[in-house]
Amino acid sequence: MTKAISLLGATGSIGRQTLQVVQELGLQVAALTAHTRVEEMEQLVRRFRPALAVMFQPEAAEALRRRLEDVDVEVASGPEGLLRAACMDGADTVVTAVVGSVGLEPTLAAIRAKKRIALANKETLVCAGELVMAEARRCGARIVPVDSEHSAIFQCLQGCHGKEEIRRLILTCSGGPFFGLSYQELEGKTAADALKHPNWSMGAKITVDSATLMNKGLEVIEAMRLYDLPVEQVDVAIHRQSIVHSLVEFRDGAMLAQLGTPDMKLPIRYAFTWPQRAASPDRKLDLLQCGPLTFQAPDMEAFPCLRIARECAAAGGTACAIMNGANEEAVYAFLDGRIGFQDIHRLVQRALDAVEVKYTPCLEDILEADRAARRAVRSHLG
Ligand code: NDP
Ligand code: MG
Repeated sequence: MTKAISLLGATGSIGRQTLQVVQELGLQVAALTAHTRVEEMEQLVRRFRPALAVMFQPEAAEALRRRLEDVDVEVASGPEGLLRAACMDGADTVVTAVVGSVGLEPTLAAIRAKKRIALANKETLVCAGELVMAEARRCGARIVPVDSEHSAIFQCLQGCHGKEEIRRLILTCSGGPFFGLSYQELEGKTAADALKHPNWSMGAKITVDSATLMNKGLEVIEAMRLYDLPVEQVDVAIHRQSIVHSLVEFRDGAMLAQLGTPDMKLPIRYAFTWPQRAASPDRKLDLLQCGPLTFQAPDMEAFPCLRIARECAAAGGTACAIMNGANEEAVYAFLDGRIGFQDIHRLVQRALDAVEVKYTPCLEDILEADRAARRAVRSHLG
């Protein structure tokens, strides 16, 4: 059971919900990090009193330092600041809730410091999952997923005796705000349209990923890495209600699922209390009120990102890191109104065509694949 955390990405959607669970369970906070949002960070530091507060951007760190002159807290910045927060002596658990591949190196540092990793930052496992999982095994560090689908699977696998018992994992997917639209109908969709997710309230990047279904593609790869299974054993089913958070089918045909209201606080809480469960004040699922539960196949033609992600998963090497880096750049260009919705998958595909895949990569190969993919997207955008 977690006693004290270091929270990377404290001002975000997962970060804020994590701090609600922290209060509820009475946990300590050793370190908090953010990128640029100084005002929000100041409030969090005053409330949770960490020993270390990190603003990734140096100017933001300077501004935070000035605002917190009356508080006994050390303020740090940059990648070194994130690494320090990931290794804090006072924390037994590190919550990785930053967005993007910037989470990779701090996650590795936390693993080497033998922390429990409450992992929300899926991009880390997409880019470097094999390396990260191998390092976790070597160091004896536990990675407990926070992503709702992977937490559901983790919960269903308690008591499983080995991966040979698993026939397949089925990740459920809400379908996002554009469910049912054709490829052509999606061309003209804007950032404002994409940011209206039907069931979950999340950060901008993952909300766009949910609209393109790239989020589900990233999650297929995340599941492969967490549970050491090939892509053929990870399926996706559209489930509009977001009540069944994912399923495991075992070799005898038994299927286990985890159900609940769509609320990230449950997987966050479980990541802290595992292998036990704690009482929760949140609204519980009323089975008699939730209506019919439906499942159907995703439309791979209208949403090419899911197909691309499966292809990269099958290719291995740095393909997933290239895809992820290109997707991050393309999503921010889409959020800025510089490209259209269907340009996201086109830019990702172009980066995959332009950047050579390396097999059995080391960390530096992965970081370079990420940078090269971003350069490829930027050069296409001029
Ligand atoms: P948000 O955009 O809401 O928050 C991101 C956090 O990371 C903020 O604290 C932000 O700081 C910080 N951050 C952003 N960029 C950088 C950077 N370059 N360096 C350091 N810190 C940075 O994201 P979410 O909370 O939605 O998502 C976080 C992660 O969790 C993602 O990987 C996402 O895929 C995953 N996830 C999210 C879910 C959700 O429900 N939101 C569900 C499942 C997984 P600042 O506020 O200062 O910009
Ligand atoms: Mg998810």
